[in-house]
Amino acid sequence: MDRKLYHIIDYKLDLPYQQITGLMISEEDDLPQKLCWECTHRLISCQRFRNKAIMSQGLMTDVLETEKHISVRPLLRNDFSLFLNSIK
Ligand SMILES: [Zn+2]
Repeated sequence: MDRKLYHIIDYKLDLPYQQITGLMISEEDDLPQKLCWECTHRLISCQRFRNKAIMSQGLMTDVLETEKHISVRPLLRNDFSLFLNSIK
């Protein structure tokens, strides 16, 4: 089993960690500053989902400025599918 630990600051996980958990990272709080590989993987996965949701909401909000309802066609027209494929 991989026991590698990832330092939150060194691997730039502090912003995702704070955005996903709502907890602040401080190097002066004497708490461990590392995440195991499993938590790191989950954090990155959650961060991707968060970014995807934010971008999707923005794109769909743009569509609603010209369309009354969200349907597949205007989303495709606005390169929504390209966007979804690009952030997998
Ligand atoms: Zn862990």
